[in-house]
Amino acid sequence: MANTYIEEARELPIYADCDLLVVGAGSAGSAAAVAAARAGCKNIILMERYGYMGGDVTGGYVIMMPNLSWYNKLYIRGIQEEWFTRLSKIPGAVTAPTEDEIGSTDPAKVHRWRSFIDCVSRGTFEGCKESQLVRAPYFEPNELKIILDEMVYELRDRITVMYHTMGARPIVEDNVIKGVIFESKEGRKLIRAKFVIDATGDGDIFSQAGAPYSGLSELGTRSIGTALVWRAGGVNWSKWYEWQQAHPELIPEIRKAITEIQGFSGLFVPSNNPNIVWFNNNHNPMDCTKIEDQTRTEIETRLSIHKVLDYLKEVCPYVWADSYLYDIAPQLGTRCSKRLKGEYVMTANDFAFAKKHDDVIAWHSTICQINDCGPVEIPYRAILAQKVDNLLAPGRHLSTDNVAIDWLNLIPQCTGTGQAAGVAAAVAIADGAGAHTVDIRKVQDILAGEQNVPLPRNSHTDPSYTELAEEKQYGLYTAAAKLAKETGDALAHRQDGQRERKAELEAQQAQH
Ligand SMILES: Cc1cc2nc3c(=O)[nH]c(=O)nc-3n(C[C@H](O)[C@H](O)[C@H](O)COP(=O)(O)OP(=O)(O)OC[C@H]3O[C@@H](n4cnc5c(N)ncnc54)[C@H](O)[C@@H]3O)c2cc1C
Repeated sequence: MANTYIEEARELPIYADCDLLVVGAGSAGSAAAVAAARAGCKNIILMERYGYMGGDVTGGYVIMMPNLSWYNKLYIRGIQEEWFTRLSKIPGAVTAPTEDEIGSTDPAKVHRWRSFIDCVSRGTFEGCKESQLVRAPYFEPNELKIILDEMVYELRDRITVMYHTMGARPIVEDNVIKGVIFESKEGRKLIRAKFVIDATGDGDIFSQAGAPYSGLSELGTRSIGTALVWRAGGVNWSKWYEWQQAHPELIPEIRKAITEIQGFSGLFVPSNNPNIVWFNNNHNPMDCTKIEDQTRTEIETRLSIHKVLDYLKEVCPYVWADSYLYDIAPQLGTRCSKRLKGEYVMTANDFAFAKKHDDVIAWHSTICQINDCGPVEIPYRAILAQKVDNLLAPGRHLSTDNVAIDWLNLIPQCTGTGQAAGVAAAVAIADGAGAHTVDIRKVQDILAGEQNVPLPRNSHTDPSYTELAEEKQYGLYTAAAKLAKETGDALAHRQDGQRERKAELEAQQAQH
């Protein structure tokens, strides 16, 4: 018996023609559509397989974002900060140190935020021995769904949203993308477009368009895996934090027991609601594009939930006695999938040597230990597909190696590269240029000017951003960075640097 079937060719209806088609409305795709519309693009379609925007952030319940600031500066602004400006008007929707507070070392403030992971600097390296406040917002994902609808709906004369439509196949002619075939309850149809942004996170479009990419089998990264996040109610996070502080010796044992009960690693952290705890997990390695792995993740997570809560009630009834399952994220999450091999591939060297790029489109701070979470330059070429024109790929499938992806798949990087992709598409379409020939200076000026994205070496950006980065050596005072500088290789010494610094800290603690 043959194990393949040749499907009959058929004519497809053209559903619509547009200037810009954005496939996937996660943090990258929704930002791309909004940014393009604000930059003047008039006929945009935003296609999304589910019935809401946000992807991992809203549907996957990834409800915190580290390091929007570094020292006393908010390096991440633009659409990313706009989410929180809007959310802050809704009671209880967002919790974070404010812009006025970042960089503060006031002991009372540091104490107030200490229990929120990443709201206080990690303090691992010389540069931040004194703990300081960081803008790391915790937010309610369902409120964010409403905000994202609102931002796009305000631009409805320019953006048409198509929920419940799945991009299935790109149309490419003479190495230029011309549109995407999609599936929906209306059947299989085609949208023709002058320019396409693949923001599916999984490279659904570029992987079929002839653009080089890395498959999951060659990734070998910590980020490979799936997750199904859930939340527990009836637990006061401050009470748990105090209990943890009083019983530090029990915490590794509890973590180990939870991993054994679940059969996969997990971590619980606070949320924007003081009485709701966020259960993050990582089924690793799992392939988020495989039906079998997706199904196992769903079932095995759900079957573990009550076992975990029962264990916590038993081991620490003082905090967990009244806990209950509050909700389960409506969609499976993933940190990494197929990745673009774009015109530039970002690596740990971008972090270890503070690489500067003429085509910088976002200046992002991360949780990278090599450069003490310092801001890093992301070039336009990291979202620019090779071999196919008019196709950009912002978000967690951008072009990085299998180490840098661990730092570059964070939400701010996805929103920031999405915003830049939208502006680049708008400029290219208006000027009759392609993705490879777009006037990048014009793109940078729009981003740094009217779109409020700080960019290095751009006249619209307050020079104090660069001055601070220079004054603080771009975070390259860490042991790992020093080793990398001596040898010219960031990767070989990342672990050594961390080990060396850990030993140093332990020795200091032993002395006290
Ligand atoms: C469990 C977990 C914890 C994490 N923790 C953090 C954290 O604490 N902080 C942080 O900053 N980051 C964290 N991350 C990473 C971060 O959430 C993601 O990398 C980021 O949100 C990805 O954004 P994106 O827009 O690139 O992709 P996605 O959010 O995946 O968006 C892709 C969108 O495209 C849609 N789509 C996909 N395929 C198609 C198709 N063929 N047709 C139409 N639509 C399609 C999807 O439905 C989705 O809406 C975490 C991730 C996970 C899974």
